[in-house]
Amino acid sequence: MSQGIVVSKFGGTSMADATAMRRSAGVAKLKNSSIVVVSATSGTTNILVELSQMVTNSTWEGCKATIQKIIDNHLQIARDLEVPEACMHDLDELFKELKTLVRGMNLLKEASPKACDSLFSLGERMSSRLFTECLNQLREDTEVSCFDVRTVLRTDSNFGKAEPNFEMIKKLTDQHLLDVKYAGRVFVTQGFIGRDADGATTTLGRGGSDYSAAILAYALGAEKLEIWTDVAGIATTDPRLCSNARPIDVISFQEAAELASFGAKVLHPTTLLPAMWADIPVFVGSSYEPEKEGTWIIKDPKERPLIRAMAVKKDQTLLTLKNPNMLHAHGFLFDVFKVFNQHRVSVDSITTSEISVSMTVDDSTLLNRTLLEDLRQLGEVLVEEDLSLISLIGNNINHTPGLAAEIFNALGDINVRMICLGASKHNFCFLVNEQRAGDAIDRLHTRFIG
Ligand code: ASP
Ligand code: MG
Repeated sequence: MSQGIVVSKFGGTSMADATAMRRSAGVAKLKNSSIVVVSATSGTTNILVELSQMVTNSTWEGCKATIQKIIDNHLQIARDLEVPEACMHDLDELFKELKTLVRGMNLLKEASPKACDSLFSLGERMSSRLFTECLNQLREDTEVSCFDVRTVLRTDSNFGKAEPNFEMIKKLTDQHLLDVKYAGRVFVTQGFIGRDADGATTTLGRGGSDYSAAILAYALGAEKLEIWTDVAGIATTDPRLCSNARPIDVISFQEAAELASFGAKVLHPTTLLPAMWADIPVFVGSSYEPEKEGTWIIKDPKERPLIRAMAVKKDQTLLTLKNPNMLHAHGFLFDVFKVFNQHRVSVDSITTSEISVSMTVDDSTLLNRTLLEDLRQLGEVLVEEDLSLISLIGNNINHTPGLAAEIFNALGDINVRMICLGASKHNFCFLVNEQRAGDAIDRLHTRFIG
């Protein structure tokens, strides 16, 4: 009984069809997972998002055809898995809810974030119901039930990107998931979704299932958290950019968090926080090749190499704000960040001089015209697009003499537009022209990782 709780999360590609589900169920059984958190089947959330756009600009006939695609995909999996009558019945209820909801949204031409979250939640609710059967077929030893995560995953009411309320989640988990702790039962549940204090369905934002799994691992005091995806762990860099890229065996939470927020696709950046607070080791592996080693993310790895990995964040814009009045003035940066805060835009890196400040943001930020207008109230704004932010991730970076020289040496003729060094001992990052990003990574990987 004292065996620790294992929380395992399977992403959309691990849920793609009956074959993928069976493979993932095999992994969940092998790893003796107690809580299995799943994403919607691959592509479903995208179709639901498409539907949420159709409700305002398409006819009910058009919406119905798209709804039918979703239903057919899930029915196909249900048939292939030969699920029992009770499961067909539950699915049918979810299909009905899908139709009713879209019909209502279509009649009202209403796609509020609140309505959309209810709609998007159906992807995970359908996949989790199917996966429960799949895992139940394999695990004859234990009862596997489908658990509605909204019972415990309390969030605020910021629909589309809700914040979890950790205190409430802990309380609710203690009340409702006792069986996981004490009776050894297995639950399949949904990633991505939650519920606010009024009982409305919320979502944590696209790709939020990893985060859900980490939140549950934290609330349950799990022994480990496994993230099963379609790549065997975290690579030293994007293998498409550098043929020498290879999986990392062990990495620290801080390094992994830097890597995720600076562009590595494998993990949702905020995912790791709850696991990090509770010091829960996180494993990232491929459900297609569970025997491969994958990557462990832990608090204190023995090896602390200077450069462990490198990431590229494409589509970066450099905003340079210039105002001579900034000279010897105070409060200027405060005003600048107030604008970003009002627009809820996050700045990745920043450097300042006496009269100017440069910041990087995602290219898509510029779709938000009023942000630029508001910044222009504070001074002249220069916009440079199509840049890539390259980050070297490792240890003791800000205390290693000669590192910058080596980096610039390796880069050779590649022009560096802006540098950020010093804020973190785990990160050195700089901007280059998008076309040179691949070259830069290739040269730096060869020089520092091999
Ligand atoms: N299904 C959601 C999405 O596609 C959440 C997830 O897969 O993590 O964004
Ligand atoms: Mg995913």
